Amino acid sequence: MARTRREVLHWPAVIRELTVAEVIDVTPTLRRIILTGDELREFAVEGGTAAPYQSEGFDDSVKVLVPFANDERPPLPVQGPDRLEWGAAGGRPIAKDYTPREFTGDSLALEFVRHGHGFASGWVEHVQTGSLTWIVGPTRSSLWPTNINAAMMFADETALPAIARLLAQWPSDREVPTTIIVDVPSEASILDMPIPDGVAVKWVHGREAWVAASRDVPWPMGDVFTWIAGEAGAVRAIRQFVTSERGVPRDLLDATGYWRA
Ligand SMILES: Cc1cc2nc3c(=O)[nH]c(=O)nc-3n(C[C@H](O)[C@H](O)[C@H](O)COP(=O)(O)OP(=O)(O)OC[C@H]3O[C@@H](n4cnc5c(N)ncnc54)[C@H](O)[C@@H]3O)c2cc1C
Repeated sequence: MARTRREVLHWPAVIRELTVAEVIDVTPTLRRIILTGDELREFAVEGGTAAPYQSEGFDDSVKVLVPFANDERPPLPVQGPDRLEWGAAGGRPIAKDYTPREFTGDSLALEFVRHGHGFASGWVEHVQTGSLTWIVGPTRSSLWPTNINAAMMFADETALPAIARLLAQWPSDREVPTTIIVDVPSEASILDMPIPDGVAVKWVHGREAWVAASRDVPWPMGDVFTWIAGEAGAVRAIRQFVTSERGVPRDLLDATGYWRA
């Protein structure tokens, strides 16, 4: 039986070599990297073909295999027709999770929080167009849940790409009143996004304000899908509150620590 009311689709694990085509600062703290390459489509591998890139869920993720300093190629997993062999090149690459923000068929956009320390965040500070990088996944997609009356969503800046994707792909006939509380460092990091009818977005600044807002926000009646993603300690605090005080059952709850302070 599924863990939540979200149908889950599975995809084969494929490593794709891609090229940085564009670097865009969408806010002062969020940097968009546009990746292109033939391996976004089906391509030949030893013993068969690797499936084309697919991503159906707003909160899907890919592993970005971060190049070492000076664009040095990391020890990449080796692709077979239906599986990846990690460690086959002697060692493992540094792999970090990122949300596929937008896929056009020819290009894939990822958005990186510029938090100032770390491999991926460091790479994104100096990345140039023409640099190579590699992605694995998504290997699964969770679809928007069915049979819900409302949705409450809590995201910090690392989960803003997922929220922006959700709103960009919001079907015109979806009638689920949805409230989204997003934590970004300051007003300058607020993203200008199209907000569909029935959706309210509230911006807060700082982890404490984010957790406090989750307690103060009016809670809707009925079956409320509750999605929480961001810093692990804050996610835990919000999850505890919504399960104990709002009675959110397990099959309506999706809480994921995206990073650890
Ligand atoms: C499913 C999923 C989807 C994700 N999608 C995105 C996305 O689209 N965009 C995105 O930016 N992140 C996203 N993340 C979070 C991202 O994977 C982590 O922030 C990751 O740790 C970044 O790697 P790094 O190499 O930059 O830093 P690390 O080497 O992992 O960490 C180095 C130091 O930086 C700190 N740190 C890590 N992340 C942050 C942060 N965001 N703010 C402040 N300090 C930090 C750590 O505490 C550590 O001390 C996602 C995570 C998951 C699980």
